[in-house]
Amino acid sequence: MIVSMNNVVAHKAVAAYMDKSKQAGGEPVCAFIYDLRALREHAERCVRELPDGCQLFYAMKANPDEQFLKCLAPIVHGFEAASIGEIRKVRKVAPHIPVIFGGPGKKDSEIAEALDRNVTLLHAESIHELRRISMLASERDIAASILLRVNVRSVLPEATLTMAGRPTQFGIDEAELPDAIRLAQSLPNVVLEGFHLHSISNNLDARLHALLIATYWQRVKDWSRTFGLSIKYVNVGGGFGISYTDPDRQFEWPVFTHELQQVLAEHRMPGVQLLCEPGRYIAAACGYYAVEVTDIKRNHGKNFAIIRGGSHHFRLPGSWQHSHPFEIIPVEHWPYPFPRTALYDSEITVAGELCTPKDVLAREVKVDRLRIGDVLLFQFAGAYGWTISSHDFLSHAHPEHIYLEDDMD
Ligand SMILES: *Cc1c(COP(=O)(O)O)cnc(C)c1O
Repeated sequence: MIVSMNNVVAHKAVAAYMDKSKQAGGEPVCAFIYDLRALREHAERCVRELPDGCQLFYAMKANPDEQFLKCLAPIVHGFEAASIGEIRKVRKVAPHIPVIFGGPGKKDSEIAEALDRNVTLLHAESIHELRRISMLASERDIAASILLRVNVRSVLPEATLTMAGRPTQFGIDEAELPDAIRLAQSLPNVVLEGFHLHSISNNLDARLHALLIATYWQRVKDWSRTFGLSIKYVNVGGGFGISYTDPDRQFEWPVFTHELQQVLAEHRMPGVQLLCEPGRYIAAACGYYAVEVTDIKRNHGKNFAIIRGGSHHFRLPGSWQHSHPFEIIPVEHWPYPFPRTALYDSEITVAGELCTPKDVLAREVKVDRLRIGDVLLFQFAGAYGWTISSHDFLSHAHPEHIYLEDDMD
């Protein structure tokens, strides 16, 4: 088991939170719970196990929560930010930490402010962007360090990958790369420091990931030779997966780092650092979404549990169309003077409080027992959870955000 999950800690936190909220007048439980100790330990391990010459940048779009950034800043080599808003968030907690600025739609004002805020590297996502970076750097009388983001063609057999080598809005088509490299070489105010090749998402296969990096590395060597480049970085992106539907089958980080070691030994490029920028893999397992069951009903032969909360807080299961894993935390407290509805050995669909049939977090999941008033603890809610959701759709109250620190038992 690679991704650390300390459910015991989350359980205790939910129990404490339920006590508190019941005493306070009994609004149903609805909270994100973040285990910062687990986050710290997991990130430390990921960084520690990387081979020499590799750096880990946290892709903060996975979860830009200030507590996450504070927790991670002393551990990671830097942060990958995709907007000026993200850069400001990093600079607030870590004024001097290395920052990579990526993303396909950088405005002039964002590039300018990023340069003023001493961003370490900018990913140029297009030829037009490259020109604008150089222009804005020249206005400041500096040279901007850039990586060209390449949208590679057919990296590996198509079927094995989810995102590589197909038309997307990201990066510069490999077919246009020679033009982009020549342009970068000719522009006075950019320094071409290397390449960025994030082209895969949620990959669960550690060996495949190392193999992908081997092909990237080969490509970069070819480009460097062809254009006489002396580069400093190859950014291999993120995309290390989390298995939501089969939680026991996780991406094996030690296998990846071991294979990566071989890849780097084989493709040695002196003085070149490998950067990676995982988001999901760092943050997912450290967050939980705890929601109270507010109703149970049977409709057209199917059982439904309605929760306080839903896809406006946690859109991930709906957008991925999967049944998100949860466990049931029994709650004995029952405040009503009439009997409590319970289901035994049944299949249940978990729906949120929104007035849309899309607000479903898990479908036809077998449960031993579920009662109105029990709490569902959704796992792997630390990445692409709250941050990707439409918080104000239907104007329900926001969930609480609870942070478990080192000093909690
Ligand atoms: C989203 C993103 C990442 C992080 O991806 P994960 O799947 O969360 O690891 C890294 N790099 C870039 C450029 C991204 O857009």
